[in-house]
Amino acid sequence: MTRQRKVILEELKKVKSHPTADQVYEMVRKRLPRISLATVYRNLETLSTAGEVLKLEISGTQRRYDGDTSDHHHARCAMCGAVMDIPADLFPMPEIPEDVVEGFDISGYRLELTGLCRECRAAKAA
Ligand SMILES: [Zn+2]
Ligand SMILES: [Zn+2]
Repeated sequence: MTRQRKVILEELKKVKSHPTADQVYEMVRKRLPRISLATVYRNLETLSTAGEVLKLEISGTQRRYDGDTSDHHHARCAMCGAVMDIPADLFPMPEIPEDVVEGFDISGYRLELTGLCRECRAAKAA
């Protein structure tokens, strides 16, 4: 693993904010002032392919990255786009019929809750 990739992984594991590539770039730049945005993008892709980070692709929004690869779900604010973690054990795996998709072997599932975060609810009420 290159030093750049190591720093990106370390910085991503420090936060719970599920940053975009641009935000990761800002975080990493404090330690690696010469790193380019393209390098950050490329390393994030490599890390997600290797299963070292999670890539959260939500239609219509910028891709976000998660340094926490343990089994968990996400809640996303429809107003500001904030992404919060939900422990997997709050939503146990539902009973899925064996032949739900022919020939498909299900290993898990991810849940994404949509709504408004506390700050956006407060802003809306004000
Ligand atoms: Zn919000
Ligand atoms: Zn997460």
